[in-house]
Amino acid sequence: MEFSFSSKYPFTSEAKQKVEGSSLELNDEIMERAVQRVVAALQGKVWKPVYLHPSDDLIDLGSYAAARMMLAHLRNRFLTNKFAVAEAKRAYKLMCEDSEENLGKLGRELGITPQEFEGKLALPVYQYASFSPRSVDYRLIFRNVKGGFVEVTRHEVIRLMEEAVKGRMESYKPLQNPPQIIRDYSKKLMVLVPKEAVLKMSFREGDNPPCIEKLLEGAKEHQNLNHQARLVLAIYLLARNVPVEKVQAIFSNLPDYEEKKTKYQLDHMIRRGYSMASCATLLSYGLCVADCRIGTPLRWKGKVEPWKKGNGSSS
Ligand code: SF4
Repeated sequence: MEFSFSSKYPFTSEAKQKVEGSSLELNDEIMERAVQRVVAALQGKVWKPVYLHPSDDLIDLGSYAAARMMLAHLRNRFLTNKFAVAEAKRAYKLMCEDSEENLGKLGRELGITPQEFEGKLALPVYQYASFSPRSVDYRLIFRNVKGGFVEVTRHEVIRLMEEAVKGRMESYKPLQNPPQIIRDYSKKLMVLVPKEAVLKMSFREGDNPPCIEKLLEGAKEHQNLNHQARLVLAIYLLARNVPVEKVQAIFSNLPDYEEKKTKYQLDHMIRRGYSMASCATLLSYGLCVADCRIGTPLRWKGKVEPWKKGNGSSS
């Protein structure tokens, strides 16, 4: 059976209206599916429901809504980010094969509206900058920018839409007074969640400069660190002779972690001998959080008391 627009893209307002306008109620079938959906996300699998009957479409939508409710109830950043990455990947796959009409409809909902500019496909700069992926290839300085527009391909528009979907799902409003069925299945879900890689670090407090502590904290909280943040953190840890397996374990906390890819990137970094960026560069990346006056985070000895940024005490 063919997926409907709303079951392909259950995060859209059309999907929400469909659920709200139906007589659908949370029941065991929907909740079981919701649990399977989150577990599939944790395993890095793309959710592929089997549709045997037209009503399955609505049940699947219900499973998405129920999964989101459980995540909002649990307030677990790791689970939420994993789910966001998996659902965004699913949407990406579906978008690649979808009609121009559906892509346009979804783009309008997400705030990504490509148009023709001088005979090429282009996006307004503000839309491009809001959703472009972390890859170097998407940096504006490497792009053809003219008259407030950035030239893009169809595939790039879809990648930006994937990022927009992920961003939308990473945020949630905590659920006040969830129904009992949500509480019960949330408990079941937590039993099935594999004990995530525990962030084991041999650092003591003060071992690392504030910028690096902040990045480590971000990894620990399963935040989606951006490209520069990941690069800075990896180079710093490797330069401090942290074993590559431990660096990999730290990165395994990130929601879009892929073991092979991370290993390849770390090996590549070691082979190429990437050098640590200066504090000035970190400042330009928005990663500097104090005024340590040491030139580069690698000169941190743990003895300097940094002047916290924003406390007005720099002198
Ligand atoms: S001054 Fe340098 S070491 Fe200190 S927080 Fe900023 S970037 Fe890090």
